[in-house]
Amino acid sequence: MSENVSDTMGLKEKLALACRILGTNGHDDLHLGHISVRADDRDQFMYIKGHEVCLSEVQVEDINTSDFQGNKLEGKRPPHNEWPIHTEIYKKRSDINCVVHTHPFYATTLSASTNIIRPVSHDGIMFAGEVPFLTSTTDLIFTTDLGAALAEKLGDGKAVLMKNHGITTAGVTIEEATLVAFHLERAAKYQLFASLHGDVSWPDDEEVERKKKKIFVPEKMNRTWNTLARSLEREEAVFRLLRLSEKLLHEERP
Ligand SMILES: [Zn+2]
Repeated sequence: MSENVSDTMGLKEKLALACRILGTNGHDDLHLGHISVRADDRDQFMYIKGHEVCLSEVQVEDINTSDFQGNKLEGKRPPHNEWPIHTEIYKKRSDINCVVHTHPFYATTLSASTNIIRPVSHDGIMFAGEVPFLTSTTDLIFTTDLGAALAEKLGDGKAVLMKNHGITTAGVTIEEATLVAFHLERAAKYQLFASLHGDVSWPDDEEVERKKKKIFVPEKMNRTWNTLARSLEREEAVFRLLRLSEKLLHEERP
């Protein structure tokens, strides 16, 4: 993808933006969930969100630098113990530069059932076929063996559903991994609400393929990323104004 609002950002800045975009779009689960990106020395180090901060709160200073053995080299936050999700995918997939792991409500709810994502909505079209489903454990991915099993399940895809746990997505770029996670959660939400109205139906394979070629082209993905960034900017501007007015009121008090 090119020519988006984050093109001039550094990696950590863009990673922080991706965290806040997902956090404000249904992926916040307290302080849990994390996103990483390969650092400039791409085969040894990564930048990764630190612990004890919500995705929606992440700023550049909340991002740690870690090596592929899980050692924190730089950063003020404690590391998430599910770091093997990231390292094991990077070791297995040289094409992947960004990994997202979150516990979004609707996709996590779906992961507790035996249903799979269907192309019920436009978002669901991205996942037509079958999203791999990690069912061998519902535990946290806190060992490299579990991370390797997850990377194996991901295969050459971009998303994996994790039973009774959440999702992991991967992308060539931060934007791609983030948008796959964004669309996966929305797809699960549409599917769940559709099921409340009776039997759920979806288009046939031919129509799905046709729609996929129209909806998820780079130019449209770019537009979605820019829209999400603008929407976040508006939301954050309101908070900034509120904080400023509180500060001014405080200063004016005798
Ligand atoms: Zn998790």
